[in-house]
Amino acid sequence: MAEPSIVVDKHSEHIAKQCPQCKFGIEEGQVIVLCPICKSPHHETCWYDSGGCGKLGCRGIASERPSDVQSTLARARAGGAGAGATEEDEGTAKRRSITNTVITVIAIAAIAWLLWYAIR
Ligand SMILES: [Zn+2]
Ligand SMILES: [Zn+2]
Repeated sequence: MAEPSIVVDKHSEHIAKQCPQCKFGIEEGQVIVLCPICKSPHHETCWYDSGGCGKLGCRGIASERPSDVQSTLARARAGGAGAGATEEDEGTAKRRSITNTVITVIAIAAIAWLLWYAIR
């Protein structure tokens, strides 16, 4: 029976904790596995790549790597990357729409000004 994988959301108690294997922080959108012995959160791939707990002195051992570890991680990565791209795109789109609005206002003002001169 494999250790349960947890997808970290921003309200997770594990966020900002350090993975004992790679020493990087646990971040939102990542898939983690808790050591059954010391409950330290590990990145799912770190957990299965190292075959167990990275905490010094802990004898937590990973069970057999589930076949969907890669796909779970890929899904989390795709979700994370997708979310990042969406945010960036939204920002760009917002800037573009502001630019478009400014251009439209200037164009309308210029046309009104030209019409006003033409009518006179
Ligand atoms: Zn790690
Ligand atoms: Zn452990």
